[in-house]
Amino acid sequence: MAKGICVFAEHFQGNIEAVVAELVSVAHLIRETTKEQISAMVVSDDCEKLIEELKKLGLDEIYAVKTKRDPLFQDDAVSQVIADMLRRIDPSVVLVPATMTGRSIFSRVAVKLGCGLTADCTEVLVGTEEDGSFYIKQNKPSFGENVFVTIVTRPGVYPQMMTVRPGVYQPYEATGEKEPRISYLEVEVPESGIRVVTKRPAVSCTDSILGAETVVIAGRGAETAESFELLRRFAGHLDAAVGGTRPIADEGWIPFENQVGQTGCTIRPRICIALGVSGAIQHTEGIKDTKLMIAINQDEEAPIFQIADYGIVGDLNQILAEYLKEK
Ligand code: FAD
Repeated sequence: MAKGICVFAEHFQGNIEAVVAELVSVAHLIRETTKEQISAMVVSDDCEKLIEELKKLGLDEIYAVKTKRDPLFQDDAVSQVIADMLRRIDPSVVLVPATMTGRSIFSRVAVKLGCGLTADCTEVLVGTEEDGSFYIKQNKPSFGENVFVTIVTRPGVYPQMMTVRPGVYQPYEATGEKEPRISYLEVEVPESGIRVVTKRPAVSCTDSILGAETVVIAGRGAETAESFELLRRFAGHLDAAVGGTRPIADEGWIPFENQVGQTGCTIRPRICIALGVSGAIQHTEGIKDTKLMIAINQDEEAPIFQIADYGIVGDLNQILAEYLKEK
């Protein structure tokens, strides 16, 4: 009988990704109802260091497969290893970061296990059947991001596997839980058809906006080359990341990963400065935990002013040009 909640411990360059602690929070929320054990699974040629990091996350058990070679990007081989691990662990729920890596590996795992995969959940809830058993309500934007749907795995199909969008849940803060059990699993690592030729740093990645202390958000009011140039210089002065509203991402001014809101990412910066953003609910959902909100908009009735701590009514081009002249 499948039992337990298992989190995929994604890692990069020897460190566990920050989103893993967020998934542990989701696991604890599920556990409040199901009372199941929480575990993490890690596959690496350097498991020991990663396990030390995972020990701080409030887990009951850590499953590890130590590989002889670095399996980074060899998703065909890693997905086989993970499928074998999951057959042995037999969890009822698997939580995976909705990242490129998570999506690439676990779509393959889903095929191998024949269990399905819900991609990009922004909310994970527990439902109870009449017989007292539990199931997971996997909520996510769908149909071109225009509606929210609840997906439920077919009864009797395990594990219920889903990717969860980074930044939606707060990282779990462990408070002196006991040490997790460490279980090394002997799993054969197959050859990979993927050969890593070279590694280059990403030109833009969500980490910059998700981890930034200050974020400048571009709205349609900043949608000209001149305005955007001012906005980027302004952000550079503040050492801020640049995010945007959906139209700004749709028009290609920023990469989709930097779109903020219900169907983009959720950010929690210390300071958020919205430039030419009207303040639609679908956008403000993604910034509601910002500590200090500043908005510039030429329309004094713009809804963004209802959530701003400080608001400036005026033309953002004039205001930014004035600010940058002083620098
Ligand atoms: P607008 O609403 O057009 O606002 C532009 C603002 O700029 C106006 O308030 C205007 O007064 C101001 N302005 C214009 N010129 C200047 C100037 N020179 N100086 C100062 N101010 C100026 N949106 C998101 O952002 N993120 C999402 O994740 C998202 N998900 C969605 C999901 C669904 C299901 C749906 C239906 C919509 C979603 N949207 C999302 C779209 C959202 O409803 C809004 O349409 C969008 O946020 C508006 O973007 P905006 O504020 O940039 O543009």
